Amino acid sequence: MAQPVPYTDSTDLAHYIAGQRTAATGGRSQPVWNPATGAVARQVHLGSVDDVNAAVAAAQAAFPAWAETPPIRRARILNAFLGLLNQHRDTLAAMITAEHGKVFTDAQGEVTRGIEIVEFACGAPQLLKTDFTDQVGTGIDNWTLRQPLGVVAGITPFNFPVMVPMWMFPVALATGNTFVLKPSERDPSPSLYIAELLKQAGLPDGVFNVVQGDKVAVDTLLTHPDVKAVSFVGSTPIAQYIYETGAKHGKRVQALGGAKNHMVVMPDADVEQAVDALIGAAYGSAGERCMAISVAVLVGDVADTIVPKLAERARALKITNGMDLSAEMGPIVTAQARDRIEGYIGTGVSEGATLVVDGRGHTVAGHEGGFFTGGTLFDHVTPEMRIYKEEIFGPVLACVRVPDFAAALNLVNAHEFGNGVACFTSDGNVAREFSRRVQVGMVGINVPIPVPMAWHGFGGWKKSLFGDMHAYGEEGVRFYTKQKSIMQRWPASIGKGAEFVMPTAK
Ligand code: NAD
Repeated sequence: MAQPVPYTDSTDLAHYIAGQRTAATGGRSQPVWNPATGAVARQVHLGSVDDVNAAVAAAQAAFPAWAETPPIRRARILNAFLGLLNQHRDTLAAMITAEHGKVFTDAQGEVTRGIEIVEFACGAPQLLKTDFTDQVGTGIDNWTLRQPLGVVAGITPFNFPVMVPMWMFPVALATGNTFVLKPSERDPSPSLYIAELLKQAGLPDGVFNVVQGDKVAVDTLLTHPDVKAVSFVGSTPIAQYIYETGAKHGKRVQALGGAKNHMVVMPDADVEQAVDALIGAAYGSAGERCMAISVAVLVGDVADTIVPKLAERARALKITNGMDLSAEMGPIVTAQARDRIEGYIGTGVSEGATLVVDGRGHTVAGHEGGFFTGGTLFDHVTPEMRIYKEEIFGPVLACVRVPDFAAALNLVNAHEFGNGVACFTSDGNVAREFSRRVQVGMVGINVPIPVPMAWHGFGGWKKSLFGDMHAYGEEGVRFYTKQKSIMQRWPASIGKGAEFVMPTAK
């Protein structure tokens, strides 16, 4: 692959409202870092109540015409957007690497997974096709419509600044809603670039808006009477807050939260495949993925073989600037996040876990100011430890040893999170039992990161999702539309006289 072009634009960032870049009014801003160098790359302005109100007003004004636009015409605009995304995929990937830190090829993969949701949303006419029953009663037909909600909002995390917004807005727009995106303040650039590509694709002004910001912007969206639904992805405490506050204000809410994903390795698993899977899923994207594996559940004596192999591979990880095409792992998003992760490593040591590989204090020559930490591996972790219970969201893999399959399953099911899980085995019966009994929303059998494809829908269980609908796929279509049932008959089939009994089919 040719060396990608780095993203270095230092222009301050604000909003995108009613089809153009718009200045912020509140006077608050914060730095956006390049995590590989530790330098401030640009400033992001944080939205005020007035800024959010302006974005919602623009979306509200655009809604009637967009809702009336035939789905096939909405799909054609999304199709043009798809073409532009494919054309500018590497620009978006370089923006992700510049602000998030993940390695460039991983960022390309993120953009691709977002593009797949746009491909799905291009099927809008088919997705909105509903049902019809001829002759539910004599001379009466009954059918359903799925109609858009109005203005809907997306509030997204730092770890997928392209893919997670694309879990939301392509489906919301395809189904006739208008959208306000509040991206993470830590990597705000891709949101504005996406808004410009949508405009270039022919999207009418006001249909897609971006407000940068923090809690002020979020709270304004959550309480705004014209916002009909909120999709959120982020940490569990905030997801719960979003769900409760949004619901209290009469909105539909889907709020996806944090995770602690286990990978069970059975004694009959292929050891080399399991090691490859654990290394990629624990340390890829520096563990800053909601589907990262952070716990290896090693069944029987498999631990004695696997732990030394994991240690060797964790020590050998190639950690550097994500724009270096040889990098396997980049920096952590901010110094604060790096310090939090390294704090957890200290906690694990004081809790009595065996620190097999210590990633703390990792430096990269030529990038001494970067927010790097190395891959960390713990063995003999137990369920009472904080490093087992809490989401660390960094490149820290905790190995828990259990005697048998039943103990592995009980361990996974007792955890408060239920986002993703994997089981590595060569026994079909174990695989089947595991899939059926595990209390987790997304399951991989010999697949470490089972992120569902665009037409299947994404969502965890327990404290990993508040609300009852998953993101994208058919659940996404249902989330962004309300069902209307219509019954119809014509005068020739209406009998004479008032009826006082409950109508039944005649
Ligand atoms: P975060 O919860 O800190 O922030 C998410 C969003 O909420 C951001 O837009 C942020 O501005 C906003 N926010 C933060 N604090 C807020 C507050 N007090 N009030 C209102 N809004 C607030 O999450 P993050 O650190 O950006 O992302 C990492 C987290 O997201 C991890 O916990 C990870 O597991 C989770 N995540 C989950 C999924 C999933 O699908 N379940 C996917 C990606 C990330």
